[in-house]
Amino acid sequence: MNIEELRQTSLFNFGEENVNFAQYFDGTSYLGPISLEQVPAFNVSFEPGCRNHWHVHHAEQGGGQMLLVTAGRGWYQEWGQPARELHPGDVVNIPANVKHWHGAAADTAFQHIAIEVPGQGTSTEWCEAVDPEEYAKLA
Ligand code: MN
Repeated sequence: MNIEELRQTSLFNFGEENVNFAQYFDGTSYLGPISLEQVPAFNVSFEPGCRNHWHVHHAEQGGGQMLLVTAGRGWYQEWGQPARELHPGDVVNIPANVKHWHGAAADTAFQHIAIEVPGQGTSTEWCEAVDPEEYAKLA
């Protein structure tokens, strides 16, 4: 699946190129707000090979992030753990304060809804890029 097919079949708002966070991504992503009320939710689309840098959703209480996979194929990895392959219908529960990354497989576009779990003292810390050699090892 390429990004145009993803755009044309996107159930939720596809949005615009994610220029505000481009410095924290390798490759091009798109961000479509779904809800800015109650529980914030965003539609995130990744071009093939695009992934975000290692990052941490910090919180003193509650917080973290949920990913609902809607299209394509991608990866999720926590620091020190093997990468988990993601397909439509998969749900990823990311605890607060756990270093991780998420993004597309090398050969196909990928899309997930990101739900920002409300909490106290929340912030996101962006860290180093995913090692290209490690990413290239993923099937
Ligand atoms: Mn995240």
